[in-house]
Amino acid sequence: MGSHEDRTYVVTGAASGIGAATAAALAAAGARVIAADLGRHGGGAPAADDVERIALDVSAPDEWARIAEQLTAERTALDGLVNAAGITRRARLDDATADDFEQAFAVNATGPALGIQALAPLMRSGASIVNVGSAAGVMAHYGIAYGASKWAIRGITKTAAMELGPRGIRVNLVIPGFIATPMTASAPEPFRAANLEAAPLGRAGAPEEVAAVIAHLLSPDAAFVTGTEIAVDGGLTGHGGGLPIARSMGAAHRQD
Ligand code: NAP
Repeated sequence: MGSHEDRTYVVTGAASGIGAATAAALAAAGARVIAADLGRHGGGAPAADDVERIALDVSAPDEWARIAEQLTAERTALDGLVNAAGITRRARLDDATADDFEQAFAVNATGPALGIQALAPLMRSGASIVNVGSAAGVMAHYGIAYGASKWAIRGITKTAAMELGPRGIRVNLVIPGFIATPMTASAPEPFRAANLEAAPLGRAGAPEEVAAVIAHLLSPDAAFVTGTEIAVDGGLTGHGGGLPIARSMGAAHRQD
């Protein structure tokens, strides 16, 4: 990972999983990290010691405004934002409620958009924003509200990249596949097994493996990369349904 010395980032959802790993990776690379989370973990998140913690509900516009005011008052110029906060909603088409859609969209789509609105004015040219999507936003997903909210963040990412590019601010999306975090630990075992079966690499990803790609997108090494998406999914989305077909053709191919 390149150096992040003298750079300042806000990371949401930093209390656990991918957000925590990202905050820790950036701090280890020399950045000042402002780690925003709901504050439900008593400030004891597993990120590095030198990470500054603030309480933030990403779905609340007034909380973003308060943080923007605070950073402006301390004359903090930002080099980036990582929108890693997220919630899952696993109800299927028949059962999903209006609340499922409202909550999934509020945290997974509206929240990142509010964060970009609030903090982009504090960013200097060369800054970088990384949103966290999901493989569920690239394909059909059984949890309909979650999947739809992750399709939405793709559109928000591309529009923000278009709008902020002229100011020298880049905006990109990472698309995690099945990553071992508290979110997936709460998933039913068949979901885990099916995900491993569907990914050519055949294993769960580690949050640190997503964090490394986020850190790259934040860094000047990715200075000409904006409005795009990088899957960190062990090949889950890349085969587009070809994997079971290739598996079933395996024996036939060897006979050719
Ligand atoms: P996680 O361990 O559950 O972390 C999610 C974090 O978001 C937690 O710190 C949570 O806080 C926080 N959060 C939830 N609602 C929030 C809100 N309203 N405001 C601020 N923070 C909030 O899950 P994760 O797997 O690391 O997920 C991180 C991101 O990756 C999410 O956007 C998720 O959809 C995405 N993703 C994950 C996977 C995967 O396989 N794990 C795959 C694809 C995409 P609390 O801990 O206090 O609840």
